[in-house]
Formats: sequence, C-alpha cells, structure tokens
Amino acid sequence: YLVRAMALKDAEGNIAKWYGTNNDVHHQKELEKQKDNFLGIASHELKTPVTSLKAYAQVMESMFKRSGDFKNADLLGKMNKQVDRLTNLISDLLDVTKINSGRLQFNNAEFDFNEMVEEVIEDVQRTSFRHIIKKELSFNKTIFGDRDRICQVVTNLLTNAIKYSPDANEVVIYTKDEQDTVKVCVQDFGIGISPDLQDHVFEQFYRVSGNKEHTFPGLGLGLYISSEIVKRLGGKIWVNSVQGKGSTFGFNIPVIKE
Ligand code: ADP
Repeated sequence: YLVRAMALKDAEGNIAKWYGTNNDVHHQKELEKQKDNFLGIASHELKTPVTSLKAYAQVMESMFKRSGDFKNADLLGKMNKQVDRLTNLISDLLDVTKINSGRLQFNNAEFDFNEMVEEVIEDVQRTSFRHIIKKELSFNKTIFGDRDRICQVVTNLLTNAIKYSPDANEVVIYTKDEQDTVKVCVQDFGIGISPDLQDHVFEQFYRVSGNKEHTFPGLGLGLYISSEIVKRLGGKIWVNSVQGKGSTFGFNIPVIKE
C-alpha cells in the first residue's frame, strides 16, 4: 500500500507541512466500500441460482420417494442439506453487507418468546443427534421485536454449541424471565474458548479454526450478526467459557419496547 505523502517546504527548505495523507485515508475508505459492495453483489447473485437448485432438488427428492427409489431419495436428501448450508452461508454474507451499510431491516411486532424458543429447539433437534435439554422454559412472555431475527440468534447459539462440542452428548438451553428483559443461555460441554479470545468472537470474520483433532467449518459471521441483532433490539450478548470444559453464550432483550 503506497503512501503518497509529499513534504511542503518553506523558503529555508524546512518541512512546513505534509500533504497527501488525507487522500490515502480516503482511498482506504473507498476500497472498504468497494469490498462491501462486491460482497453484497456477489452474495445476491449467488442466492438466485442456489434458490432454484434447492427447488429442483426438493422436487427430485419427492419424485424418488414416490417411486420407491429410496437410495436416490437419500442422495437427494443429502444434496438438499448441502444446499441449505450454502443458502445459510450466503444469507450470512448478505446480512453482513446489510449491517455494514446500515440497511439491516427489522420487522418488529409482538410475539410469544417461549413459543419461538421451543420452535427453534425443535428445528435444530431435527437435524442433530445431540440431546438438547431444556431448562426453565416455563414463561409465556409477549415481547416486541423481529421474531425471525431473534430466531436467527437462538439458532446460531444452539448450532454453535453443537458444532463446538463434538464429543459431548448434550447441550442445555435455559430461558429466564427477568423483570424487564427475557434472557436465553445456551450451555455446551465442548472445546471452550481461551480468555484472550473470548472478547473477539463477536467480531466479523473472526474465527478460531480448531485444533489438531478437530476443524470446524464456518465464516466467522454468526456471532457478529447475532450481536448486531441483539444490540439493535436494545439487549446484550455475552460469553462465559472455560477452555476444554465448555461455553455458555447468553443474550437478553427488553420486554415490550415501542
Ligand atoms: P463460525 O462458527 O462460522 O466460525 P461464529 O461467528 O458463529 O462463526 O463464531 C466465531 C468463533 O467463535 C468460532 O470460529 C469459534 O472459534 C468461536 N465459538 C463460537 N461458539 C463457540 C462455542 N459454543 N464453543 C467454542 N467456541 C465457539
């Protein structure tokens, strides 16, 4: 990266002023903007073919099922799952470009918080052999916010808990109804995070790529997006973790706020 700073000298030849550096800051910002634009356009363009790929794969899976060809139905089922992963990666990229350009939109409305959490658990449980233990999911609290976005946060914490605890049998999810907020905590008994890295996990594209025994796939965007969502709704997100023992990720959001 070239710094095009030039010295402006006075009559005696002493340097009176440097100029040109502002331009470079401007140049850097321009590059950032171009990168974000590219990411936005690329993820948008990727989304369209992947969406039709998904539709075709679904049709073919059910065709094979109907004709009793379970071997091929099974293959198509696997393909569907991979297409879903691709779709999730692309939508994370899209979300990040929206966040970075201030265009992440919220459709806030009242909804039943507990029912939403139960729905996420059911969804995640369907695709995982790990036992998801529910604790204290007893309240019926109406809260105000974007249901889909909050679903996204809970899903992210639960799927991370499962992904980063490859040798554990279970993960635990707690909800707590506090005076002005609702709180969700997801506890796992997995690899944990060392103290110096804990502060960084909510940064965009930040990831710890695993150790010798395990590598974990991902783009390092889920927690960044989750923390932006929670912050935008006036809440907090945090982590407590002990390396080698496990992590608890939690967040809270205010109840009814208009
Ligand atoms: P990704 O999982 O795609 O890398 P995330 O933003 O969800 O991205 O997480 C960022 C990083 O935080 C991960 O790469 C991982 O190192 C760490 N992390 C997240 N959740 C957990 C967890 N439950 N246990 C241990 N490490 C975690």
